[in-house]
Amino acid sequence: MFFVGSMKSKHAVIIGGGLGGLAVALRLAAQKWSVTLCEQGHSFGGKMNFWSDRGFRFDTGPSLITMPWVFAELFTAAGAAIEDHLEFVPVHPISEYVYPDGAQFSYSASMPEWLETVRNLDARDLDGFLRFMNLGARLYEVSKDTFLRRRPLDWPRPIDARILRHLPWRYAWGNYHKTVVAHFRSPHLRQLYDRYPTYVGSSPYQSPATLAVIPFIEYAFGAWYVKGGLYRIVESLVELAKDRGVEMLLDSHVVKIECDGKKVTGVRQSDNVLIEADIVVMNGDASYVSQMIGPISPTSPTGLISPISPISPISPISPINSTGPINPTSPISPITPNTAFLPHHERSMSGFVMLLGIRRTMPELRHHAIYFSGDYEREFSELFNDRVFPNDPTVYVNAPSRSDRSVTPGEGETIFIMANAPANDHDKWEEERIGEARRRIFARLRASGFPEIEKDIVASDVWTPEKIGSRYLMPGGAIYGRHSHGWKNAFLRPPNKDHKYDHLYYVGGSTHPGGGTPTVLLSAQITSELIERYERE
Ligand SMILES: Cc1cc2nc3c(=O)[nH]c(=O)nc-3n(C[C@H](O)[C@H](O)[C@H](O)COP(=O)(O)OP(=O)(O)OC[C@H]3O[C@@H](n4cnc5c(N)ncnc54)[C@H](O)[C@@H]3O)c2cc1C
Repeated sequence: MFFVGSMKSKHAVIIGGGLGGLAVALRLAAQKWSVTLCEQGHSFGGKMNFWSDRGFRFDTGPSLITMPWVFAELFTAAGAAIEDHLEFVPVHPISEYVYPDGAQFSYSASMPEWLETVRNLDARDLDGFLRFMNLGARLYEVSKDTFLRRRPLDWPRPIDARILRHLPWRYAWGNYHKTVVAHFRSPHLRQLYDRYPTYVGSSPYQSPATLAVIPFIEYAFGAWYVKGGLYRIVESLVELAKDRGVEMLLDSHVVKIECDGKKVTGVRQSDNVLIEADIVVMNGDASYVSQMIGPISPTSPTGLISPISPISPISPISPINSTGPINPTSPISPITPNTAFLPHHERSMSGFVMLLGIRRTMPELRHHAIYFSGDYEREFSELFNDRVFPNDPTVYVNAPSRSDRSVTPGEGETIFIMANAPANDHDKWEEERIGEARRRIFARLRASGFPEIEKDIVASDVWTPEKIGSRYLMPGGAIYGRHSHGWKNAFLRPPNKDHKYDHLYYVGGSTHPGGGTPTVLLSAQITSELIERYERE
C-alpha cells in the first residue's frame, strides 16, 4: 500500500476535476490549503469538455454562459485577472426561434427590437413580457444574496429581512408553465419561455415558477461565449491551479472515502492508493457518496439521499445495461453509475448530442437556434413520464463558428446539435437507437427548414446519455443531478457540508445551489467559505 499526501500542512482532497472541483481547488489554494485534485477521466473539466477532429474544435457540454461576473470573481479569488486569460463576448441575438407552423424570429438582446417582435406576435404580450421580467427580477433580488450565495441553513440572516419585501408571493410558489400562460397569450412566446426550466434539466410543466429567475438573468445580463470555445475556461483554470501548486491527478478514480468513525480521513483510488486528507470535497455526483463511504446505519447514511429504491426496467427498447467499470483491471471495484441512489423519477434530463464538422461555410446559421417540436407538453411527458426519447424532439443547434472562426479549420462550420433525453440506467444506446434518435432530429430540422447538411459532414461524434453517464459518473447521464420539480427539489438540494460526517464537503451541480456553470462556481464559493469557517485550527 502507498501513502500520498502531507501530514504537515492541512490537506484537502477533491474528488473530481469538473468546473466545481477546479473552482474549489483554486479557492482552497488561495486559502493556503495544500490541495490534491483526483479526476477519474483523461481530461479535466467534467461536463465542460471538448473534442476536436480535422481542425474542428467542439465544446461537448456547455455552449452558453450567463452571469459572467461569477467567472471573474473566481479569477479574483485566485489572485488573477480574468481578462488576462479569457475573452468573454456577448451573443447577439440571444437565439433564433423556429416553430413548426413556419413562424421564425430572433430573440433579440436589444429591448426595442425585442419589444417590436413581441408586438408583432401579440401586442397584448408587451405588458406580459415586462411583468414576467419583473417577476424574474424580484426573484433574483431575493436569491442573489441568499440562495445563490449561502447554504440554506445560513439564510435569511436578520440583515436580509429587508429583501423579503421583494418576494413576489402571488406567482413565486405556483407552477412555472401556468405562470408563463398567465403572462403571455402568444403560443410562440409561451413555448419560448417554457423552455427555460430545461436550463436545469427540468420540465416547465412540473417546475415551480421561481425558475422565472432564469429567463430574467439571461435577458438582463446577457448570453455569453468565450473566444476559442468554452473549454478555454477549463484550460485557464487548470493552468492557474497548477501554477498555485495544486496537485492535479488524471485517471485517478476515487472508489472509497476513508473514515475514522464519523471523521473523514482520506480517499482511496481504484489502484488501492490511499491519499490522506484533513478534508474531502466531493465534486462527483453527490448521490454516490453513500456507496463510497459505506453504510453506517440502515437509513440513509449522509442524510443526503433517499434510501435505495428498486430500479424497475424503464426502457421499452433495450434490456438492462451495465456500463461496467472504468478501469476493469482495478483491484477495487469502481462505482458504476447504474447502481446510483438517485432514483429515475428524481433525475434531471440527459441529452443526445451530435458534434458535426461541416465542410461548407453557412453564413445563414445563428450562434444559437432552437427548432421547436409540434407538441411541447407531449415531448416532456415522453421525457419524464414515459422516459423515452421524444418522437418529435425540440432541437438545439449551436454554431459557435458563426461568432468565432478559430474553432474551424478555416472553411466550414462547427455545429453542436442537442435534444433532451431521459436519464435512464437501462438504456443501451447501441447503433440502432442512435440511428433512430438521429433520424428524428434530422426529421424535425428538415420539417423546420434547416439546410441540408448530412452530405457535408466531415467530422462527427455522438454523445448519448449512456456515454455522458459513464464518462462523468453521473446517474443515467442526468446532467443536473436532481430535477427541479417542486419547490423542495428546486431549493433544497444536497448540502455543501455533510450532515453526518466531519470534514466532508460537496461542490457542483448535484449539490446546492444547483447545476449550470455559474451556479456551480457559486457552489464552490459557498463550499470554500464553509471550509474556512469549520476547518480553521
Ligand atoms: C451536453 C451539455 C450541455 C450543457 N449546456 C450548458 C450550458 O449551455 N450552460 C451551462 O451553464 N451549463 C451547461 N451544462 C451543464 C454544465 O456543464 C454543468 O452544470 C457543470 O459543468 C457541472 O460541473 P460540476 O463540477 O458540477 O460537475 P462535473 O462536470 O460532472 O464534474 C464532476 C467530475 O468529477 C469526476 N468524478 C466523478 N466521480 C469521481 C470519482 N469517484 N473519482 C474521481 N473523479 C470523479 C467526473 O469524471 C467529472 O469530471 C451542460 C452540460 C452538458 C453535459
